[in-house]
Order: sequence, then C-alpha cells, then structure tokens
Amino acid sequence: MEHRLVITPRAAALAGRLPAGDLPSYLYDLAALGEHARAVRAALPESVELSYAAKANPAPEILTALAPYVSGYEVSSGGELAHVREAVPGLPLAFGGPGKTEDELRLALGLRTERIHAESESELRLLAALAAERPGDAPVDVLLRVNLPAGDGELGGAALAMGGRPSPFGLDPRRAEACLPLLRGTRLRLRGIHAHLASGLDAPALLAVAARVTAWARALDERHGLGLTEVNVGGGMAVDYARPHARFDWAAYGAGLAALAAGHPGYRLRIEPGRALTAHSGWYVTEVLDIKHSHGEAFAVVRGGTHHLRTPAAKGHDQPFTVLPTDAWERPWPRPAALDEPVTISGQLCTPKDVLARAVPVAELRAGDRIAFAMAGAYAWNISHHDFLMHPAPTFHFLS
Ligand SMILES: *Cc1c(COP(=O)(O)O)cnc(C)c1O
Repeated sequence: MEHRLVITPRAAALAGRLPAGDLPSYLYDLAALGEHARAVRAALPESVELSYAAKANPAPEILTALAPYVSGYEVSSGGELAHVREAVPGLPLAFGGPGKTEDELRLALGLRTERIHAESESELRLLAALAAERPGDAPVDVLLRVNLPAGDGELGGAALAMGGRPSPFGLDPRRAEACLPLLRGTRLRLRGIHAHLASGLDAPALLAVAARVTAWARALDERHGLGLTEVNVGGGMAVDYARPHARFDWAAYGAGLAALAAGHPGYRLRIEPGRALTAHSGWYVTEVLDIKHSHGEAFAVVRGGTHHLRTPAAKGHDQPFTVLPTDAWERPWPRPAALDEPVTISGQLCTPKDVLARAVPVAELRAGDRIAFAMAGAYAWNISHHDFLMHPAPTFHFLS
C-alpha cells in the first residue's frame, strides 16, 4: 500500500513547496521529534536514564532537539565522540563499540568521557595503561559490555542480533570474571554492566532481556562484592517499516522497567535507543523523473535513490511513502503515468538493487509528482553509499 499521510502536515507543506532544484531533500520535523522524545521520556520511570544512540542520526540539529529529553548520548567511534561533544557540550557521553583504537581511547580520556563501555579484556588492559599516563585525572568510569546468552525465543523477533550468540560484540560472560583482576590497582572504576543484544525487539522481549541482564549483573556483583551501581540494558526498540503508523509500546516498556528498577534498588537503569527515537521524524523527498512499463510491470524512476536512502536496500523492506501530486508538467508530450496498479520505485543507480519500494499499489503516479519516503530519520542518509555514481547530494531542511 502507498501510505497516505505518513508525513506531518508541516513536512508535507514544505515538501510540496521546495524549489525543484532542492530535490532530493531530507526533511526533519524537529517539533514532532521533540514531542515524540518528550512522550518517550514521560512513559519511562524517573529513575531510568534515557540516552540516545547517536549513530542512528548524528545531525547536530537532531542531537540538539533531543537534548531536553535525554540524559546523555551513546557514541560508537572517536569521530562520533568528538562530534557529539561539540554539538551538545556538557551532556554525558558513553563510548562503546568493538575495536576501539589507542587514539580513540586517548581521545575519550582527553574529552573526559563520562562512561566507557569496555568490550574485551585487551581493551580493558589498554584503557588501564592509558589512564595510568594521566594520574591527575579523576578515575575513569567503565561498564563491561557482556554478550549474555539469549533466553528461549527471546531474540527471535530481532531485526539484527548483536549478541545472544557468538559475536564480536562485548565479552563472553564467562570472560567477565577474568576482567575483574585486571581492574585492581588501575585508575578505572567499574560502575556496572552494559548489554545491547539485538535491534528490532518489542517491549515484552526487551523487558525479558533487561531483566536477565540486570539479574546477571547483580549475581556478578554479589559474588565479588563489586558495589556496582548501573546497568545499561541497551537500545533496539522495534520500528516496523511495514506499519508506519505503529509505535513501540513505550508505556508497557516504561511500566516493566519501573517494576524491574523497584526489584533492584541501588542500581540505576539506563536505556539507549537510536532508531525508535528518530526514525519517524525524517522524510526523503524526491520527484518522479520517469514512469515506464517493462514486461508488464510499472516502474517509477525517481531523482536520487538508495545512495541517499539505503535503508530499504539494507533491511530488505519497502520504504513507506506518500505521493504528493503536482500539476507541473510543462513538456509538450504526454505525461508518463501509472494508474491504479502496482509500481516499483527505483532510483538513478545502474544496479537492480536500487529499489526503494517494490510493486506497491498506487492510485495514480505521474512523472513530475513528488514522493515523500517516510521513516527516514534514522539509519538513512548516514548509512548510505553517497559517492556511488557521483550524483549530487540531497539538500537538508530542519523544521523547528
Ligand atoms: C546501535 C546501538 C544502539 C541503538 O540501537 P537501535 O536499534 O537504533 O535502538 C544502542 N546501543 C548500542 C551499543 C548500539 O550499538
């Protein structure tokens, strides 16, 4: 189905009146984003900290719009660390990710990064050695990222699994014990445990993960008298590209976290969603260049493509969209059109993989019409292969 009105009225109005030379364009509705983040924050118990995983969309305007509602940001590289520190100075950062380099860890120490999520014994040793070179600094607060085995069927619904099975992410829980002696006598302070096992889970599945991670942290804490104070249960809240009006059930998740927190006094719980915070507040707007029929099927070729919006190619879905009809057809020949039939929407790249939506029924689509692809506020422009074929970059508009 073509999805009518999967766009806010303000974004639709701007999408319709942008000069043709501005297309393709990414539009972000920062007011809608702020309203969504406010509602997410309100659904969570006060004691739970909400961080934003910057890799979902690190645009400074997005980071700033979220700032009133989050207590910090999760960053996954030295580049993100420096960028987010500059965009939203003064807000706490947690630095995670596998394969942190010596330079990145030095940068993290230099920028006084509030939390470092250590992903291996070797990384912990390197961090301890680098921290020892800075005896004047405050101790470095560290969480161990663990890759706990998943409960039965728990990650079955996940779009992407980073853990719960063999993976390069985090520590095997059996190795966590071996990390504890490495911390002794160092300038590192073990604050707690971090886990981010999968993306694309619903609230009950994520609550089961959170409960298991927290119970595991407590058991480790009690076995060794560690005095842990924090458990970061990760992000991964589901975004359903087939149901663009649906939202993750933040109310149920918040209620479940409140119960979990009540059962673990002394532990501060933290979550770090990316996609579910920003996906719904961005659109990729473009125009139909041509429509043709090939071996009985209709194809609409749009300006731009998956080198700007790689999400549908990367995840294998149809990107939901709204057609914004235009009357502008000034050519002296008939306007190419598809009428009441399934249309495959492809881009300008010379590869059959450049498909944004496949065989989607539309009432009417004509060359010159505009299309606003929804759910393009996360893992969209910033995961795309911009340089392939050397087409011009899109423009960016942030509606405040
Ligand atoms: C990517 C990532 C997140 C955010 O995941 P979403 O699916 O966007 O919510 C959170 N934590 C870590 C460690 C990540 O790598």
